[in-house]
Amino acid sequence: MTTTVKDMRPTPKAGLLDIAAYVPGKEHAPGVAKVYKLSSNETPLGASKQAIDAYRAAAERLEIYPDGQATALKKAIADVHGLNADNILCGNGSDELLGLLCQTYLSPGDKAIYTEHGFMVYKIYIMAAGATPVVAKENNERAEVDAILSAVTPHTKIVFLANPNNPTGTYLPFEEVRRLHAGLPKNVLLVLDAAYAEYVRRNDYEAGVELVSSCENVVMTRTFSKIHGLAALRIGWMFAPAHVIDAVNRIRGPFNLNSAAIVAGAAAIRDRAHVDQAVAFNEKWLPWLTEQLTALGLRVTPSVGNFVLVHFPDNAAKSAEKADAYLTSKGYILRRVTGYGFPNALRLTIGSEEANRGVVAALSEFLK
Ligand SMILES: *Cc1c(COP(=O)(O)O)cnc(C)c1O
Repeated sequence: MTTTVKDMRPTPKAGLLDIAAYVPGKEHAPGVAKVYKLSSNETPLGASKQAIDAYRAAAERLEIYPDGQATALKKAIADVHGLNADNILCGNGSDELLGLLCQTYLSPGDKAIYTEHGFMVYKIYIMAAGATPVVAKENNERAEVDAILSAVTPHTKIVFLANPNNPTGTYLPFEEVRRLHAGLPKNVLLVLDAAYAEYVRRNDYEAGVELVSSCENVVMTRTFSKIHGLAALRIGWMFAPAHVIDAVNRIRGPFNLNSAAIVAGAAAIRDRAHVDQAVAFNEKWLPWLTEQLTALGLRVTPSVGNFVLVHFPDNAAKSAEKADAYLTSKGYILRRVTGYGFPNALRLTIGSEEANRGVVAALSEFLK
């Protein structure tokens, strides 16, 4: 047997180096005085004042371990949403929960499905669990139930559906989600990632509470990073059947939420006025941006979230790449979405009034 240099150092497990690391939204525009970060779907309203106060108060007790059960946070979520706290599990961002679900249900040889333009984090966690990602085609930049169902095989263990999806902003009406669930084998876990649920103002939308409550194979994940404005603290939660909570609880970090996150999250979700304000703000500026960008001749995917996917012309001089460089030079940072199958589009977060007006003006200039 020959020993190579490669054998003389630790080697990551099979398949791990095939994973492409997640690339977060850009933050900087070098040399520009004022920067508007519109690349990560953060709220322009900031966090609730009560949440910030609770965070500050937590600084007085930094020597004490956090409550490993995140009791105060689960109780606040349960109160506000009318749920049983026993069916809630919190995570260090919903990203952590998505990863834990993969570690819990996927083994090498298993498969998990997500959709063509679906959130990229799924693929990373599926592969990290040693399983195989399977991509179901979308139709018109929207998840398609029949395509997902026809991708199911006896090896399928999880189906991930971001509803609404990022980066498209499109959603599946609840009848469609129900039809998807009805077509899945009972041993397949349906994960409804409802990160943007609070923003959706559609009568035919539901985040998934009812389906989770009545089925053994559905989980809904939520986040404090978007409408609650607590992305920096990393707080997510899932609502799930008791057997799923029990299984995931066995492998999560015993103190996966820090104390500041627990108290700030509880204060944030109880501050309904702040949430209502964020919804009202989005209700005003989402249609405004969509109309303005459309009037500039850009195609905008109809969105129900706090962001829009903006498509650029075929003209190489006016491409998404060129627009991105131009906007960055003016201080407007948007998100490239090539990795999501949109090489000629940018994702734009609904920002402050100043940011929204400024980005439209800059794009108008760019397109001249
Ligand atoms: C932002 C986002 C999340 C939230 O991630 P956190 O880890 O909770 O910050 C989850 N899913 C989708 C689709 C998102 O866009």
